[in-house]
Amino acid sequence: MDSSCEKCHGTGVVKEADGSVHTCWICLAAGRMDTHSKKVDEFKQIKV
Ligand SMILES: [Zn+2]
Repeated sequence: MDSSCEKCHGTGVVKEADGSVHTCWICLAAGRMDTHSKKVDEFKQIKV
């Protein structure tokens, strides 16, 4: 994860203004989520 991420600030979790919480899509898409790196690769292949 990237501590400079403006969305999650390195936590990997984004809290929306409405209180909902979800995985940081930016870090996920950038492959910064170590535990999900394999899934991200699969996800990218599906998207592309
Ligand atoms: Zn992030």
